[in-house]
Amino acid sequence: MNDDDPVSAAENDSAEPVADQNSRSTRANSRAGTVVREPIVIGGISIEPGQRRYVDLPLPPLYTHTSVAMPVHVIHGKQHGPVLFVTAAIHGDEINGIEIIRRLLATKSLSRLAGTLIAVPVVNVYGFVSQSRYLPDRRDLNRSFPGSEKGSMAARLADTLMSEIVAKCTHGIDLHTAAEGRANLPQIRVDLDAHPDLLALAEAFAPPILLDSHTRDGTLRSAAGELPLLLYEAGEALRFDELAIRAGLKGVLRVMRHLNMLPANKGGDKKSKPWLANNSVWMRAPQSGILRSRIPLGGIVEEGVILGYISDPFGEAEQAVVSDVSGVLIGITKLPLVHEGEALYHVATTASTKSAARAVDEFRLEYEQPLIKRLK
Ligand SMILES: [Zn+2]
Repeated sequence: MNDDDPVSAAENDSAEPVADQNSRSTRANSRAGTVVREPIVIGGISIEPGQRRYVDLPLPPLYTHTSVAMPVHVIHGKQHGPVLFVTAAIHGDEINGIEIIRRLLATKSLSRLAGTLIAVPVVNVYGFVSQSRYLPDRRDLNRSFPGSEKGSMAARLADTLMSEIVAKCTHGIDLHTAAEGRANLPQIRVDLDAHPDLLALAEAFAPPILLDSHTRDGTLRSAAGELPLLLYEAGEALRFDELAIRAGLKGVLRVMRHLNMLPANKGGDKKSKPWLANNSVWMRAPQSGILRSRIPLGGIVEEGVILGYISDPFGEAEQAVVSDVSGVLIGITKLPLVHEGEALYHVATTASTKSAARAVDEFRLEYEQPLIKRLK
């Protein structure tokens, strides 16, 4: 759970100002001639410029008579600027994004925010409580967008997020991890055919890999339409992955600086250029059995290389899993018990692995070295 204690909007009468404790009225303090920002209204609660506060968006209750709400944290800056949402746990077991948002909200420079940040750490509250990707009706929320007021439980939840949050924003970042039993190398997914302008925003995030992939129907990404939205995929479900969390937090802050929502870093930001992959394929299990992987996540693979071996428990009937493409291993199964046909290795493909290898190395250098130093 988030360490911050979300207060129900109805109970939270004393919303805390973003920066100036003495500034009771932003309008009164604004200089003559400047255009004053309007308040933003979320869940029927009006948040004034210069305020940050929690809002609970009511959702269908549990059949136990327990009420359920989607917790939202709004920081409405005094200065004009973009309105950015950051969402996590649309799949209830993908918890790295929740920790990214917790750290984001604790970032000091938010006191100088231009524009508005709307953070929704747990979108799929039901799945989060049951530690499941899905909703209680087994629907996948990220196949249920844009949703509708009168539709299924998933459709109603999607509709609440769309109408209360997404419709009021100019930009979005949606945080995910791989599904349970799999891990993803930190990557941003964008559909550059539909949104060529997203390249600059994705490069500002600076993950090692940018995967140009078409959007699936029913996802938040497809429902967002023209709104520039970055999808971050990193780590594993139901696990905290420190590298994925730190790269995610840094990426969100870099995007906010790129959008001029936050002041630029003193001394600049030495970020590496991500490698852009236009295609990716899954290598599947040629037989059922127990898998031993040879190549770690982020590994560079050449066509024909052996990714792992599958055998029975006695080590007999062994078969190699061979990559039929060259590229970077951006997703990997962590559960070694596999059935024939199961997706094991996700490879972002390339004709030449040179620039991909450089991007992954630079990323490692940026995040893994300071991590080792910090742990000492
Ligand atoms: Zn997900």
